Amino acid sequence: MSETIQDKLVVGVTYILKNDNGDTLDTATSSDPFYYLHGASNIVPGLEEELTGLKVGDKKSVKVAPEKGYGEINDQLKVKVGKESFPEGTDVSPGMQFAADVGTGQPLPFTVEKVEGEEIFLDGNHPLAGQTLHFEIEVVNIRAATEDEVSHGHAHGADGVANH
Ligand code: ZN
Repeated sequence: MSETIQDKLVVGVTYILKNDNGDTLDTATSSDPFYYLHGASNIVPGLEEELTGLKVGDKKSVKVAPEKGYGEINDQLKVKVGKESFPEGTDVSPGMQFAADVGTGQPLPFTVEKVEGEEIFLDGNHPLAGQTLHFEIEVVNIRAATEDEVSHGHAHGADGVANH
């Protein structure tokens, strides 16, 4: 079968994701490929565009700029709060993640960047915001999406069976 990647197909890929420094940020290997629903914004736009039209066995190096990846760093999402904003007894330390509503009306995931005395510096940007992403990707599987997958807007793994 020489089906090519297009909308409403579930695609399995293996990949290595690196940043500009060549550090490996994430991988999916052939023993556990990553499955997504094409055309449903499951993956960053810059990668989805480049995968369109590929077929099983195709390999590609894809460089994704921040604006087509996880966005530029938004300084408004870097905020400073007092320790009293946390429940008493919370041991706040760098790297902690939690959800907070900073006035946008819905909780966003924040990471504690640093703690200085009574001041806590938070960052609500995606950890990969502002980064150019370098993917080495290989297409390992293409199949039709199930009705459930199309209506849910995401893939249900290798066999399309949902556990939710
Ligand atoms: Zn689902």
